[in-house]
Amino acid sequence: MKKKNNEAAPAADQGLFGALLPPAPAKKSGLLSFSYSKMSLYEECPLKYKFKYIDKIKEEPKFYFAFGNSIHTALEFLYSVKAPPFPSLEETLDAFRRDWNAKSYLEKGYRTQQRSDQDYEKGAAMLKAYYEHNQARFKPPFLVEYSTDVEVDGLLVRTISDRIEHLGAGEIAIIDYKTGKDVKRQPLQLYMYQKINEMDPRLKEKLAETYGLRVSAVKVRQLLYYHVPTLKEYPFPRADDKEIGSFWDRVLGVAESIKGLKFDPTPADQACSWCDFKSLCPAFFGGHPHPAGQPSASTENIEALVDRYGQLKEKMADLQAQLDKVAESIAGSARDGAEYDGSQYTAQVKKSSKWEFRDREAVITVLNKFNLYQKALSLTLTGITNVLESDDLPDEARKKLLEQAVKRTATEIKVAKKEGLI
Ligand code: SF4
Repeated sequence: MKKKNNEAAPAADQGLFGALLPPAPAKKSGLLSFSYSKMSLYEECPLKYKFKYIDKIKEEPKFYFAFGNSIHTALEFLYSVKAPPFPSLEETLDAFRRDWNAKSYLEKGYRTQQRSDQDYEKGAAMLKAYYEHNQARFKPPFLVEYSTDVEVDGLLVRTISDRIEHLGAGEIAIIDYKTGKDVKRQPLQLYMYQKINEMDPRLKEKLAETYGLRVSAVKVRQLLYYHVPTLKEYPFPRADDKEIGSFWDRVLGVAESIKGLKFDPTPADQACSWCDFKSLCPAFFGGHPHPAGQPSASTENIEALVDRYGQLKEKMADLQAQLDKVAESIAGSARDGAEYDGSQYTAQVKKSSKWEFRDREAVITVLNKFNLYQKALSLTLTGITNVLESDDLPDEARKKLLEQAVKRTATEIKVAKKEGLI
């Protein structure tokens, strides 16, 4: 049976790393293989994304994925019927047990057999409650664990919908099961399902095959998270064009950053505490504290890691210097808005003006003198630039700030590899 694999990164069943990967889609030239879980991981930490999806470094198994997968497998089994009768509760629990026993407790990511057995009991009780709560309204769904890959905007986007119900006249409801402690209320993952399923030509064929119904388009009418542990439903109406549009802008922003090979680490306690790549990560060892509850590296390890850290820092500094030099040369000769073609990469060049401030203390003095400190919100370049460029800034304050400011040309170079999936 297929495994759940594109769940978002929830708090407790932490889709931080995405679950077991589905078979890789057929490679299509120039398309970036994408999914909601990839996007969440990139937004959580670009370097973590790189370690997982680009460098393909293997992670430790996670028990919360094993648990969620076995629950999904049992529900898939329960709903994989074309017509009643449905499997009995015992048969459904058997499906859960088979999937659970297919791996040892260590392979599932548990530290002890006992913890694994406790979760098995918890999962069986959860499924029993689900069965009894929903039995009266069981009806054969339109599709179960429906996986599709759709090409859009240079991406090959994969979604796997846990269950799709046909509501009539080509309108559907998409249901996504959650098995962690909380449900993320944000429906963004469901927006991805809406967009991709509505673009998927196979869904129309499936409607024709299943119900003999021919429609010009499939439309999502309802989106739903079903939280299995509490039997609670979190319904959302279909997203309107504006919501989908802004969500899609975010998707394209992430995709652009991935294509532009932007993989700077963004350390944060929670993300780092669940991260298997700490020993490889310069940001984590670069002063970021070990999050509580995580074991520290052993002393003998630390010596080796100190050396590795030093070597990587040196390498990074060297690479950064080379990168800056090349970027400077490109910036010097490229035209604003132009696109350039190398043999392996293409680059788009965008130039803009930006302010730099020479003396931080002097800037603070000016802001305080004119009661502008609050207006800057924070002493970031953006905050101070906003103050400087605001229309209602008193002339004298502008003059004082300009004494500390230098206007430079910033050049943004977006590169993309020409061929092959990243
Ligand atoms: S340790 Fe933290 S900063 Fe480093 S890759 Fe992992 S999540 Fe990112």
